[in-house]
Amino acid sequence: MEKQSVPEIFGSLVFDDRVMRARLSADVYQSLRKTIDENVRLDESVAEAVASEMRDWAVEHGATHFTHWFQPLTGVTAEKHDSFITPSPDGGVIMEFSGKELIKGEPDASSFPSGGLRATFEARGYTAWDPTSYAFIKDHTLCIPTAFCSYSGDALDKKTPLLRSMEALNIQAKRVLKLFGKEVKYVRTSVGPEQEYFLIDKEMFEKRPDLVYTGRTLFGAMPPKGQELDDHYFGVIKPRVSAFMEDLNTELWKLGILAKTEHNEVAPAQHELAPIYSTTNVATDNNQLTMEIMQKVARKHGMVCLLHEKPFAGVNGSGKHNNWSMATDTGTNLLSPGETPYENAQFLLFLCAVIQAVDDYQDLLRLSVATAGNDHRLGANEAPPAIISVFLGEELTAILEAIKTDSPYEGKEKVIMKLGVSTLPRFSRDTTDRNRTSPFAFTGNKFEFRSLGSSNSIACCNIMLNAAVAESLKQYADRLEGASDFEAALHDLIKETITKHERILFDGNGYGQEWVEEATKVRGLSNLKTTADAMPRLLDPKNMEMLMAHKVFTESEIHSRCEIMLENYCKSVNIEGHTMVEMVRKNYLPAIEEYLFGLAQATSLMKSVSAHVKCNYEISTMERLSELTDAILEKVEILETALEDIKGHSDIIETSAAVRDDLLPKMEDLRKSVDEAEMLTSEKCWPFPSYGKLLFSVY
Ligand code: ADP
Ligand code: MG
Repeated sequence: MEKQSVPEIFGSLVFDDRVMRARLSADVYQSLRKTIDENVRLDESVAEAVASEMRDWAVEHGATHFTHWFQPLTGVTAEKHDSFITPSPDGGVIMEFSGKELIKGEPDASSFPSGGLRATFEARGYTAWDPTSYAFIKDHTLCIPTAFCSYSGDALDKKTPLLRSMEALNIQAKRVLKLFGKEVKYVRTSVGPEQEYFLIDKEMFEKRPDLVYTGRTLFGAMPPKGQELDDHYFGVIKPRVSAFMEDLNTELWKLGILAKTEHNEVAPAQHELAPIYSTTNVATDNNQLTMEIMQKVARKHGMVCLLHEKPFAGVNGSGKHNNWSMATDTGTNLLSPGETPYENAQFLLFLCAVIQAVDDYQDLLRLSVATAGNDHRLGANEAPPAIISVFLGEELTAILEAIKTDSPYEGKEKVIMKLGVSTLPRFSRDTTDRNRTSPFAFTGNKFEFRSLGSSNSIACCNIMLNAAVAESLKQYADRLEGASDFEAALHDLIKETITKHERILFDGNGYGQEWVEEATKVRGLSNLKTTADAMPRLLDPKNMEMLMAHKVFTESEIHSRCEIMLENYCKSVNIEGHTMVEMVRKNYLPAIEEYLFGLAQATSLMKSVSAHVKCNYEISTMERLSELTDAILEKVEILETALEDIKGHSDIIETSAAVRDDLLPKMEDLRKSVDEAEMLTSEKCWPFPSYGKLLFSVY
C-alpha cells in the first residue's frame, strides 16, 4: 500500500469540522456550530441527526463500539465501551446509536473517587457530551469527549470545572473588551503543552518492581555517567527512538493532534514532544490522549514510556510546560502587544490581569501541580522552585517601571508612558533571553507556566489560572465600567496594579538560595514545598470564595478535591514504601547475603591453602557489607513501623503531614544504605538492572 501523506492522515480518525460540514445537512451543521461556538443548547432533533451521521462515519472507519470518554479525578482517562449492535427482528443485528446515547451516558461510577460527594449507593454519575471537543476513533471505538457529574450535579471530573473556568474568563474578558469598544463573540484561552518523558528498554523495566509498581526507581546507585556532559540535549536521536517518534506522530496526527516538535531532553533517555497550541479544553483532551498513545506506541517498539516526574534520582525529572494565552473569536491574541496606543493599553491591562492573578493566587497555581511525584522536582534546582513568580524580561519590566513612576522609558527612544495617549515603545519580541528558572514566564505573546509535572493533567492548572485571571478582569471591569474618564481611570488602574503586585515579578535566578530568602522573607511570597503543604490551601476562605464566585467549583466540590488529591498523595507514597520493603526483604538482603557468603567461603578457602594470603579485599568488603545489611535491616524495620503508624490517622491533612515528615525521610534513609551496598556488591549478585543499564541501553 502506498504511504499516505501527512495531510491525508491528519485528523482521519476525528469527527471534525470538515467531516461535519461534509456530512451533516446545512441546518444541522449550523445549529451544532452554534452550540460549539456560542454554548447554545443543542436541540434533540439535531442531536439525533448528529448521532446518526457520527455512527455511519464511525462504522465506515471500522468502529464497532462507542464510549463516553471522560477524565475522572484519578488523573487518567476512563472509558466504558458499548457496541453499536442492536438485535433486528430477522435474528441479525443493526448498528444503532441514538441522540440520547450521544448526549448522555450513565457509567457505573461507584469506583471513581468522589471525595465523599457521592454516597456509594448513589453509584451512578452521568456523562454529558462536550461538543467543543471533537469525537474520535481509538481501538475500533468511537470516543465521545464528555464531562462527568453526579446526579446532584457535582463535578466528578476535571473537564467540568475547566469548561466552567473558561466560561468565567470569557464573561469577564468580554466585559473588559467592551470598554475598549470591542464586541466579540467569545474569548477563549489556548494552550500548547510541551510534554517530557523517558524511554527505557521494556525488558529492563520489567525487571524493576519499583518501576512497575510506582513508575520511579526507589533504589539505584549513580552510574559513572549522568547528564553532566550535556551531550543528550538536542542531540542526535537514536534510531530506535526515532522509529518510535515517527510512529507516535502518525498515531497522533490521525487523532487530529498537532504534534509538532520533538527532541532529546537534558537527561539521558529523556525526550520532549510539543504540539501546536489549541483551545484549552481540546488541548487538555489531546494531552491526555498523547500520554496514553506515547505509552502504547513505546510498548510496540519494545520500550516503556515513563511519565513519572522523577523516574531516576540524580538526573533531571520530567515536567510539562503550559503555554497559555487568551484570544478572541476573531483570532486576536490579547497577550500580544499591539500597534496602536489604544491596543497597547489593552495589552497592558490584560498583562496586569495575569500578573495580579498569579500574585493573588500563587497558592492555587502551586497546588494545581502538586503531586507526590512532582514534589521531587520543584525546588530541586532542575525545575522551577516551589515559589511562584513571574518573569517578564528586561524590556517589559522597564516599561512597567516607567508607567509606575510616570518617568520616561529609557528604551530606544525616550517616551513618557501615558497610556492610551502616547505610543508604547516598540519592544522586541525576542524570546532568546529566557529565564529557564522562572516558573511563570512571559514569552512574547503568551505565558509559560513551567511547574507542571509530566504526568499532571493540564486541566488542573488551567482551571486555577483561568479563574484567577477572570477574577482580576472582573475587578477591572467593575471599576472601569463606572469611570467618567476611561483613559485616566485605566492609567491609574494599571499604575496601581503594577505597584501593588510588583513583588511577584522576578527576573533573577530562581534556583538560588538568595531567592528563597528574598521571596519568603522580604517579599512575603509563599513557598509551599510539598503537596502536604500546598493542597490544604485550597480550603483557604480567600481561595474558596473566588472559585465559588466564578462558579468554577461548589463548596462541596472544593472539599472533595482537596481530599482526593491528598489521598492520592498518601496512597502513592504508601505504595512506594511497601514496594521498598518488599524489594529489600525479598531481593536486596538475600542478594547481599549470597554475595557475603561467597566472600566468606573464598576467604576461608584461601586462608586454608596459604597462611600468607591477607584477603584484604574480601574481608574489608565483608565487614562493610555486613554493617550495611545490619543498617538496612534496622531501617526497613523502622519503615515498616512507619507504614503501620500512618494508618492510625483519621484526618487526611494529618495523614499527609505524617507521610511528608515520617514516611518519606525514612524511605530516603533506607535507600542510602542500599545504594551504598550496590557499589560494593558484584553485578552478578545484584538482583536488579543498574541505573547505567536503565538509562543507556536504548540506542
Ligand atoms: P519553546 O521554545 O518553549 O519550545 P515554542 O515557541 O516552540 O517554545 O512554543 C512552545 C509551545 O507554545 C507550543 O506548543 C506552541 O504551539 C505554544 N504556543 C505558541 N503560541 C502560543 C499562544 N499564543 N498560546 C498558547 N500557546 C502557544
Ligand atoms: Mg517551553
